[in-house]
Amino acid sequence: MSKKVLSIIVPCYNEQDTIHPYISQMTDIETLLPELTFEYWFINDGSKDNTLSVLKEISKQSEQYNYLSFSRNFGKEAALYAGLEHARGDYITVMDVDLQDPPELLPKMVELLQKNDYDCIGTRRVTREGEPKIRSFFAKKFYKIINKISDIEIVDGARDYRLMSRQMVDAILELKEYNRFSKGIFSWVGFDTYYLEFENIERVDGETSWSFWDLLQYSIDGIISFSEFPLKLSTILGFISFVASISALLFIVIRALIFGDPTSGWPSLVCIILALGGLQLLCLGVVGQYLGKTFLETKQRPIYIIKDKKISSLEED
Ligand code: UDP
Ligand code: MG
Repeated sequence: MSKKVLSIIVPCYNEQDTIHPYISQMTDIETLLPELTFEYWFINDGSKDNTLSVLKEISKQSEQYNYLSFSRNFGKEAALYAGLEHARGDYITVMDVDLQDPPELLPKMVELLQKNDYDCIGTRRVTREGEPKIRSFFAKKFYKIINKISDIEIVDGARDYRLMSRQMVDAILELKEYNRFSKGIFSWVGFDTYYLEFENIERVDGETSWSFWDLLQYSIDGIISFSEFPLKLSTILGFISFVASISALLFIVIRALIFGDPTSGWPSLVCIILALGGLQLLCLGVVGQYLGKTFLETKQRPIYIIKDKKISSLEED
């Protein structure tokens, strides 16, 4: 009987110094899982350093190392999608190359997936040590908000690092949307997921490529992709201010009829105009966000463009 294949998808953006430590750790892990054939898919996401030449060099060393190299930086989500599209394994895992997704969890994940009826073994960080406090604070808030206002459930601290069955990956590939928010997609497709917990680990080398603003934008994208709550909120706000203005109008007219008061107070008027103007712009902005996403979706642009690749034939042994 031929061995089952485990595909490992590794997005790389400016990771020239982390690829070798990653491979040497993975080689140790491979010996713990002799029943599986490993194939790797390194995705060079338009790196500006020597990542591509490192990938070329390692892909010459062994048939199990494949790479796809993008024509520019398309983002980690695009890299994950490209990897999932190309992976041929019975099991598929996605992991970061910086060793923040501990490879030593892999044997346990494989065991859990094979022995139980799970379709996916995810991982979650139970600590966020080594990360700026403010980042952890906002991350926590983001998970709270998105879980409240969307139908999907995103586990706090869940990483993209996960081992999935072929069936689940095929389901994920059915979602061909341009604005990809993988954490949401993994949850949206359903299937039974079990989460393994681990403590945060710092990068082996290099620096995170996500700035605070990138993360903020990422969380807004996540909310817009998986919730219509901001749109509903705009409607509710509009309705409330409409009701309030009608009540105020009635109050003023009746008061004027009864007491014949001259209307005073232009400062309050200015405040109301500014408040309502601001609210309108805010709601317009919310609608604009959704419209913008829809606009990008309707263009049906490819999620990524490959400039260079090496795909070896899958060895059956
Ligand atoms: N990455 C990518 N494209 C990008 C940014 C990041 O493929 O535009 C990869 C990166 O090489 C790494 C993973 O995504 O393997 C996670 O990135 P990083 O370590 O910078 O993020 P963090 O761990 O801080 O969330
Ligand atoms: Mg990292």
